[in-house]
Formats: sequence, structure tokens, C-alpha cells
Amino acid sequence: MEHFKLAPLPYDEAALEPQIGRETVNLHYEKHHGGYVKKLNELVEGKPEAKATLEDLIRSSEGAIFDNAAQVWNHDFYWRSMQPGGCAEPNGALGEAIAGSFGSFDDLRREFVEAGTHHFGSGWVWLVSHRGRLRITTTPDADLPLRYGDTPILCADLWEHAYYLDYHNERERYLEAFFDHLANWDFALANWNKVPARR
Ligand code: FE
Repeated sequence: MEHFKLAPLPYDEAALEPQIGRETVNLHYEKHHGGYVKKLNELVEGKPEAKATLEDLIRSSEGAIFDNAAQVWNHDFYWRSMQPGGCAEPNGALGEAIAGSFGSFDDLRREFVEAGTHHFGSGWVWLVSHRGRLRITTTPDADLPLRYGDTPILCADLWEHAYYLDYHNERERYLEAFFDHLANWDFALANWNKVPARR
């Protein structure tokens, strides 16, 4: 039985072109993201974990169940971190928080691209709220900020499957394209507004 479902992609597979090609999105969503959902369902079949939520599994499990549950969560967050055609620069509450934590939007961009480019191997680069302040972090493999009490605001996938067909080994160009043309600041603002420490 299918306990965990593959969330619908929030846009068409070709919608992120030209920055991220249809073939990349097709493989990434159907085979990679979909593969993690399928594997997770196999791993929890007949076990108490089958009744847990994805967030419960992320907080309480280790090993293969954690890896697959976290990758399902991370990919769902990644797709929503992008908006076809991009988005206006953040202003209002999020704009002020960016200025307060990084100095400027350009400083945030530089830190995000640098951190993601220099992260060794597979993983994720995140804009998070850490104790109510914005910061950039990276996590290896399937790991994610929820494990450390940080609230994810926006993320980019650093696994090669996210960019290799479009950018080969040039991760920096992929991250620049992500940041400049695809980053969904409306989604980021919605996440920032939900940060409990700010209330
Ligand atoms: Fe991925």
C-alpha cells in the first residue's frame, strides 16, 4: 500500500526552461524524487512507521528510512523553492530580515552561491531561520535543517542529478541561474512568516 505520496510538481516539467531543462526536471521528479517515495513506502510496509507522518519519520528515524523520508521532504521543498520566470526581489518583512542578517540582497546571493558551490559532494544549500535570524547553511546527502531546530526558508539541490544535464560540473552557474531566475521569494516570505521565534 502507498502510505507516502509523490506531491504534484507545482508547474509543468518544461516550466523552468531555459535555466533547468525539461529532461532534468522529468528525471529529477519522476525518477529521483519519485524513487525516494517508492523506496520509503517499501521500507515502512507492515511497520509502525507506516502510520507516522513524514516529519515524524525525519525527527525519529535513522538509516535508510531517514534518508528516504528526508529526501522526499527536501525535494518537495526544492520544487516549491522555484517559480517559473522568477520573482521580484523580497521586500517588506523578509527584505528587512535579509538586510539585517546579510547586509544586502547581493550579499545573501554571494553567500548562497559560494556555500553551495563549495559544499563537498552531494547535499543541499539552505536559507534558514536560526533562532529568528536568517543564515545560509549546507547539509550533506539527505540531511536537513529541521534536525537542528532551524526553519527552512528556501533551498537548492546540490546533487549532480539536479544540474548535470544542463550545466555539467559547473555547479556555480546552476546556483547563479537558480538564484537570479528561479528563486521563489513568495514561498520564502511565507516560510519566514511562519517562524515561531519571530512571534
Ligand atoms: Fe535531487
